[in-house]
Amino acid sequence: MSLLETDRELTRDSYYVATAARSLDFAPLREKVTADVAIVGGGLAGLSAAIELADRGLSVVLLEASQVGAGASGRNGGQAIHGLACDQSTIEAQLGMDEARRIWSMSLEALDLIRARCQRFDIDCEWQDGYLGLATSESKGRDLQAWAERMASHYDYPMRWIAPGDIQQWIASPRFKAGVHDPRSGHLHPLKYCLGLARAAHGLGVRIYEHSPVTRMQQGQTVELGCAEGSVRAKQVLLAGNVYLQEYAPELAEKLAPRIMPVGTYIVCSEPMDKDRVDALIPSRSAVCDTNFVLDYFRPTADQRLLYGGRVSYSTVTPRSLLASMRERLLLSFPQLQDLGMQYAWGGFVDISMNRAPDFGRLGAHSNVYYLQGFSGHGLALTGLAGRVVAEAMHGDASRFDSFARLKHRPFPGGRLMRMPALVLGMAYYRLRDML
Ligand SMILES: Cc1cc2nc3c(=O)[nH]c(=O)nc-3n(C[C@H](O)[C@H](O)[C@H](O)COP(=O)(O)OP(=O)(O)OC[C@H]3O[C@@H](n4cnc5c(N)ncnc54)[C@H](O)[C@@H]3O)c2cc1C
Repeated sequence: MSLLETDRELTRDSYYVATAARSLDFAPLREKVTADVAIVGGGLAGLSAAIELADRGLSVVLLEASQVGAGASGRNGGQAIHGLACDQSTIEAQLGMDEARRIWSMSLEALDLIRARCQRFDIDCEWQDGYLGLATSESKGRDLQAWAERMASHYDYPMRWIAPGDIQQWIASPRFKAGVHDPRSGHLHPLKYCLGLARAAHGLGVRIYEHSPVTRMQQGQTVELGCAEGSVRAKQVLLAGNVYLQEYAPELAEKLAPRIMPVGTYIVCSEPMDKDRVDALIPSRSAVCDTNFVLDYFRPTADQRLLYGGRVSYSTVTPRSLLASMRERLLLSFPQLQDLGMQYAWGGFVDISMNRAPDFGRLGAHSNVYYLQGFSGHGLALTGLAGRVVAEAMHGDASRFDSFARLKHRPFPGGRLMRMPALVLGMAYYRLRDML
């Protein structure tokens, strides 16, 4: 099965699709159009850029191969968390402390941006404040505490430390030993948020075309993008196609694909419970992640379910009996939920970069083709900021975009066929480490 076929299977049983109404449909592109900027990809990155560009007075066309929010943006864990997928030390090592601090503060701006957009565009996406980062062993608890102390002293970002003796007040689980709480991060219904952004972009004059995979690109002073029945000429282009870009348009992704790897991650969602039962599990109603490399992430939903994510597939093959295997995983954290039925199971692919840092840049040093990728499973909030900084760059101020673009990225070793076994080996090592 191709990645796109597997991906389609994985969305069939999504809680988000079942609980978000698509009030807008956009027709395919069937003509020749022009724009200041053409965007490939109707996920959070593309939509965010579209809004920011329209705000700056530029005309924008957005092309989406499927439907807006059909990719990772409409099916993720809903956790909007500070920082990047990689630790700040990765950024410090490459760019130094000042730039690392600048990037960290942009990751916080990304959280504020979600709140601001929900308010400005009247998006009801069930935002809930709060994030808990939890350690699954005492030694990981000590590492977490050291990390939190460093974030307070080096980044002026204090988080509340939850000592082993207090952890049961924050989570009714035998699995977690200590943690941190961050009130600035939070969680939301990602498909509702994404559809809200599409409505907002449309309202600002962005021309959105769905069912319009871009398959060709001709670069020059103006860039031409070709779909099956139409084309766009634009002064500048943004590629925001995530792992799907290489599937729809291998030529466009030729330079980008080697630097990211599609990794499957999966989510199960329970039937609704009494509110009291949910509150007893996670009294703060925060989003929760453990600190393992292959992590579990979960949260209560507004309609009183438990949404639980985890597992990974480096081969892109969906685990067998997805719902049952994810339920087992959930029960490791909450053994008291044996009687709780599971209603939905789905998944998707994240675009992992080698060092887990985001990969933003231009195709060629002075090129008018920009790209955003490599969110590495941590893009719900960061895509919003990415859209903003790429819009700033396209509008003449590239200073913030270039902070990210200066980050160096290595291709996965071995090319397209060989990089997967190498990654699986690497991950096996980290999985072993998670067990310690
Ligand atoms: C199961 C899962 C759980 C996750 N959980 C979290 C979480 O809790 N917190 C967090 O921060 N992050 C999470 N993530 C990651 C986060 O969802 C992504 O980083 C983010 O949504 C990426 O947004 P995007 O716009 O880059 O990509 P996408 O949302 O995937 O959008 C890309 C779009 O581009 C389109 N496209 C591609 N090629 C073409 C083409 N040639 N022509 C036209 N259109 C094209 C695709 O159809 C797709 O709709 C999760 C991801 C998954 C899959």
